[in-house]
Amino acid sequence: MRILRLQRPDPTRLIEEKISVARELYELWGQDLKEDEELKPMLARYLQAVNRSNQAMEEAGTFDECYRCSVIDQKGCCKIGLENECTVLILLLNRMLGVEFPEEREVPGRCFFVGPRGCKILARPMLCRDYFCIRHHQRLTEAQMAHITQVLNDELVLLHQITSLMRRRLEAWTGDFLLELDLTGYGV
Ligand code: SF4
Ligand code: SF4
Repeated sequence: MRILRLQRPDPTRLIEEKISVARELYELWGQDLKEDEELKPMLARYLQAVNRSNQAMEEAGTFDECYRCSVIDQKGCCKIGLENECTVLILLLNRMLGVEFPEEREVPGRCFFVGPRGCKILARPMLCRDYFCIRHHQRLTEAQMAHITQVLNDELVLLHQITSLMRRRLEAWTGDFLLELDLTGYGV
């Protein structure tokens, strides 16, 4: 396994390295992971949970607010470096769900995964899903926020369970210490 931890990490180089490791793992183990008896039903449940979260956010209008903030007001919080909230395991999960990664950062100064229609990946890290800024808190009632948080909880618990199981399987199959699979890249 290649060493990803750099002394002064360059966010673009780091995410490119992680993507390359995820692609390699997908080539070697993707099919086995997708067909794993325990993992397969969890992946289906995860997709349903993502859809339910998206529906709750759509109904509460948070997507529209984020669109106004990012595209019209040219603000938005998907900044450069945040792509490294994605661990190798989250990237590998995206490949397993059919996501193709971009070859380069499309919008300068923004997250590697930002595109014209928003985020290009499906399985997103907890920070991306569970972050609601002041604009949302000012618009939404407490009941709406509680509902979104409740629905999101299923998705995020499943994300943790799936990536933990993927890690256990990879460790069992390779006999390796795959410590870097959970690396975000902010730590030293
Ligand atoms: S979460 Fe807040 S800061 Fe981020 S894009 Fe949405 S409205 Fe903007
Ligand atoms: S939501 Fe997507 S585009 Fe935004 S920071 Fe997270 S991974 Fe990047």
